[in-house]
Amino acid sequence: MFRDLAGMKPLAIAKNNDLFIAASETVAFDVIGAKLIRDVVPGEIIHFKDNKINSYMIDVANSTKNAHCMFEYVYFARPDSIIDNRKVYQVRLNIGKSLFKEFPIDADIIMPIPDSSIPAAIAYSRASGIPYGEGLIKNRYVGRTFIMPTQEKRELAVKLKINPLVSELKDKKVVIIDDSIVRGTTSKNLISLLRDIGVKKIHLLIGCPPVIAPCYYGVTMANKEDLIAVDHSAKQVKTKLELDSLAYLSLDSLVEAIGISAEDLCLGCLTEEYPTEIPTNLKIKNIK
Ligand code: SF4
Repeated sequence: MFRDLAGMKPLAIAKNNDLFIAASETVAFDVIGAKLIRDVVPGEIIHFKDNKINSYMIDVANSTKNAHCMFEYVYFARPDSIIDNRKVYQVRLNIGKSLFKEFPIDADIIMPIPDSSIPAAIAYSRASGIPYGEGLIKNRYVGRTFIMPTQEKRELAVKLKINPLVSELKDKKVVIIDDSIVRGTTSKNLISLLRDIGVKKIHLLIGCPPVIAPCYYGVTMANKEDLIAVDHSAKQVKTKLELDSLAYLSLDSLVEAIGISAEDLCLGCLTEEYPTEIPTNLKIKNIK
């Protein structure tokens, strides 16, 4: 197996008795009781033979800088995974702590949406002393909405996905912690649901800076014109989503939370500075 030259996608190896295993998420090893050996280094080819690990480096690897995808830590990876020696759960706790440091808010309840934001919401709750609450009941059998192919399907997916607990939320001041905003559809529908049941104040805190550019490395996010933060400031997004406040974690705090220097991360969808050259007129295709 081979890990890409920039280490953008994770890959690790483990051993279970005499069997070597490779996976992008280390949780796969936990499930079968395999012992993590190490991450595969960017540009490394691993070949298992005769109960030995043979490692070869691609020559050009030395000239390619690391660009680990920040979104793995923020959203994609399971919280119980370890990527490049960083515990994803700890990174997300750090994000929640930093959100409180940057945006302390007076509220009655802290809620995560979606599940990937649970550790950040727990950390915000611990730091602020505001109770962590389950005010939104999720249907766990519906997939991630931002990668659904049409606007209509995404709107329906939100309704299928979440049901608010009126008894927990009516007349309350609520802080919602989300990992990111892509198009804003999920957030808009969610906030309408909360307004309809009489939530008093809705504050939305985002665990990464605004997504202002597409991903060209395999994440079907959206074309640039579909990203809400491209032509809307935080204030405009707040108005559009009918929020009482909206704030994004700063880039410096995100990088600090991950614990890898900015030079070794891909932050392309946040900064529009990509680790590789991007061909002009390249469009991201939605899957039909
Ligand atoms: S552009 Fe964004 S989603 Fe794509 S690899 Fe880079 S950080 Fe990850």
